[in-house]
Parts: sequence; C-alpha cells; structure tokens
Amino acid sequence: MAKNEDVFKKIVSHCKEYGFVYPSSEIYDGLAAVYDYGPNGVELKNNIRDYWWKSMVQKHENIVGLDAAIFMHPTVWKASGHVDAFKDPLIDNKDSKKRYRADVLIEDYIEKLEEKTNKEVAKARKKFGEKFDEKMFRETNPRVLDTQKKIDGITKRFADLINNNDLKGLRSLIEELQIACPVSGSRNWTDVRQFNLMFSTQMGSLSDDANSVYLRPETAQGIFVNYLNVQKTSRKKLPFGIAQIGKAFRNEIVARQFIFRMREFEQMEMQYFVKPGDEVEWYEYWKEERVNWHQALGIPKDKFRLHDHDKLAHYANAAADIEYEFPFGFKEVEGVHSRTDFDLSAHQKVSGKKLQYYDPDTKESYVPYVVETSIGLDRMFLAILANSYEEETLEDGSERVVLKIPPLVAPVKVTVLPLVKKDGLPEKAKEIMDTVKNDFMCQYDEKDAIGRRYRRQDAIGTPYCITIDHQTLDDNTVTIRERDSMKQDRISIEKISGIVREKIGKGV
Ligand code: ATP
Repeated sequence: MAKNEDVFKKIVSHCKEYGFVYPSSEIYDGLAAVYDYGPNGVELKNNIRDYWWKSMVQKHENIVGLDAAIFMHPTVWKASGHVDAFKDPLIDNKDSKKRYRADVLIEDYIEKLEEKTNKEVAKARKKFGEKFDEKMFRETNPRVLDTQKKIDGITKRFADLINNNDLKGLRSLIEELQIACPVSGSRNWTDVRQFNLMFSTQMGSLSDDANSVYLRPETAQGIFVNYLNVQKTSRKKLPFGIAQIGKAFRNEIVARQFIFRMREFEQMEMQYFVKPGDEVEWYEYWKEERVNWHQALGIPKDKFRLHDHDKLAHYANAAADIEYEFPFGFKEVEGVHSRTDFDLSAHQKVSGKKLQYYDPDTKESYVPYVVETSIGLDRMFLAILANSYEEETLEDGSERVVLKIPPLVAPVKVTVLPLVKKDGLPEKAKEIMDTVKNDFMCQYDEKDAIGRRYRRQDAIGTPYCITIDHQTLDDNTVTIRERDSMKQDRISIEKISGIVREKIGKGV
C-alpha cells in the first residue's frame, strides 16, 4: 500500500474511533457516501463554520447573511440550467460492472502523466544536488518535454470534448489512451451517457397531483432568487455580498474518498454582486482573499494550489479551484467563480420579475454581475484533519497520535484532569471546570493514568490540559500542558482563561 493511502486509511479509522465521523446508518451496513458527525466532529465542523461566517459576514460590512430553504420552486432549477446541464458523463466497465465518471478517468490519466514528470524531476534533483535548476530542467529535458506535449494535447482535446458535450468523442479518447478499469483491468467500456446529479422527491400528498421538487444541489440559487429581497431590506449598494451556509445534495456517480465526495454535504457560499465590467477585478480579489483565509488557519502555503479551470460550468466565464494536497493528491476544496449575470438574468427571464439594481451614481438600472466563492465545509474539515494528523515517537520511545488542529477550530479547547481520583482533587477540578466551561468547550476526565488521559486529548487535538494536583489545594496553582510541545508550566488558576484565549485568538 502506498504510504499516503496508508495514512488516509488511518485518518478514516481515527475519525471513527475518536467520535469525529461515522458511516451513516452503520448498523444497517451504512449508506454509500453519506456520513454522520460525532461529538468531536460536530464541534470541529461548527468551529470551521463559525470561522468562515465571522470572516465573511462579521468582518465585511457589505456582506450579509441568508438562510434559504432547501426546497425551492422546481422552475428555479429549470431557469438556472441545472435540469438540462447539471450532468456528469458516466461510463460503465462491462466486466467489473463498475461505474465511472468519464471525465474523471481522463483527469486521472493526465494526473499520472504529471506524476511521471514529477518523478523525473525528483530523480534529477537527487542526482544534481544543490546545482539543480528545476525550471531549466523542465524546459529542456526531452522526456519531460515529450510528456508535457502529450499532457497539453490531451488537456486541450478533453476541454473541447467537454465543452461541446461530445460523449462519443470522450469514449474514443478513453479508448485511445487505453484507460483500463482499475477493478477488472479491462478496457471493455460501454458508451458514455449523461447523468443528472439532482435528487428529486415529491411534495404534497400522493393522492393529490404531487409536484416533483429537487433537493438543492447548491445553496447559491437560494441567494439569487432572494437577491432583491435582501438588497432592498439591507439597503446595500453594489458591490455587496450575500453569504449562506447549508446542506446541498448531489447524486454523485463516483462516491469515494470518505467525506471528500458525499451525496449530502454542506456548502459555505458567498455571492458578490458587482457592476458589470468590474467582475474580473473582483474575481481576482476574491481568489486572493480566499487563499489568505485558508493560510490564516496555519496550513502551510505549499499544501494549497490554485487551479484555473479549462472546463467551465454552464454559468461561468472564469473559474478557479483552490486545491489542497490531500493524501490522495491535490483536490478542490473551494471554487471561485465569475458567474456573470447568468443566474439573475435567467431568473428574471423565466419568472418575468425584474431583478435589477438601480445605480444611484449612474442613474441606470442593470442586472448585476456575480462573483462567487463556494467552499465545501466537509472538504475543509477533511483538509484540516489530514493536515493535523501526526504520529510521533517521543523521547522515551513511546508513540503518540496527535491532531495538531488549529486551536481556533479544535473541538475541545481545554481538558481538566485531577491527578488522582481522591483527596479532594476531583472536587477542586470540577470547581475549575465549572468556571472555565463558561468561556470554552471543556472536558473533564478522571479515568485512567494521567499519561493515558493526555494521549486521549492529543488524539482529539485539545490544545491545553489542566492538571490539578495536591499543590493546587495549597496554593491555587495548576499545571497547564500544551499539546504540540507537551511543555508543562505551573500557573495560577486565574490565568487559565487568559492563556487559552490568547492561543485561540491567534487562529493558528
Ligand atoms: P468536484 O469537481 O469535486 O465535483 P465541483 O466543481 O462540482 O466539485 P462546486 O460545484 O464548485 O464543486 O461546489 C463548490 C464546493 O462544494 C466544492 O469546492 C466542494 O468543496 C464542495 N462539494 C461539491 N461537491 C461535493 C461533494 N459531493 N461532497 C462534498 N463536497 C462537495
């Protein structure tokens, strides 16, 4: 098993063992690509959600919030283009009977070619040592150039096929590249077909003429159809934004990689309404802002990369993904999209209701353009966990698994531990706990030896452990142990909240 795959498996089982994420309906063998968040998971998720909300809504005076319903009038999805265009091309392998996204098969193939080049580069770096000039190597090495030419050729063809909805062409490309099914190893493929990703259900009683409604595949449309309500009631001038957090549903064909690709997930989206013509400037602005947001959490810069789209969604004129390097490679965590006036114009046309903005400066009315930032809460959760998970061998030779979660979003901030379960220490510890829990999410733990209790807290990423011992009863001091350094200091009880608050406030 590849090392990274191994790490990923460990993270998945760690999530279950420590109450972060469980498979849905597990006693019935689970439901594919649906997951439940346990006690620690829900805290981490809430904290990421709050961090996003504060940085978008609280810190931007021109961004306001919204909480639209999941069900919407079915015509919304016709107007938005989702009924006709929210589709993935799927292909089946006749031998394994496994279903794949045709586009993903080709993307994976391109990624393998890129890996090949990266291996060449790593090999050369090792060989030439400090003298190695990567740029020059990439620009001159014949094998690297050859592979790059191949990548560029396939990428260009692939983008054309997708943009022209050419399903036959996609199949031919898969055959030409001799892509085999990872399960059966065969190249016995069906035709490529389109598959709409929206879930539908019935609204109203069955005896009536029940209406089909969709479970929203993105939260954004709730913002668009409320655009005028919000603009008028909050009296915002352009540019201004509407932010929303909520569940979205997609009947993903290939549901894999744990909570990375789920059928029910949560999005944190912000639609920024701007004057037509200003969208490129704002698109660039939000790309940078969002990359900075990720980095403010303390995840190393080189774990992220920006990927500009070759294939644009039906509503966009420019789009980029912010990708995180998961154990299974660089993958999208967030999209920044320039959606033009596509959505508002479409809703205006189909509903017959004006969705325009009266510009008091120019005295004109127009449909605003939109720049969107859209991040998956569950993917961010996974990125944070993957970045935090570490296995360490300590000085005494023992091992610990520690989640170095940014303190700001850690599920539990402080755990209070009486050194022993007697001599009045538990009573004193509970007294401290009762004060500190007013400020932070705290835990109390008196079971097992102190070392084991520290390990349990390391495993869920608790930044601070407070230990109450016999000296505490004499002089009101405790030891405070920091998760990453494992350093312990003796401090007075009144200082606990201040120290913890300072650490959390930094955001890293
Ligand atoms: P992908 O290409 O990975 O399917 P997408 O480009 O369709 O993603 P968007 O429509 O841009 O995704 O959605 C915005 C964000 O919502 C994504 O960046 C991702 O974080 C999240 N997201 C989308 N689909 C899923 C899913 N099935 N499970 C979890 N998160 C998702």
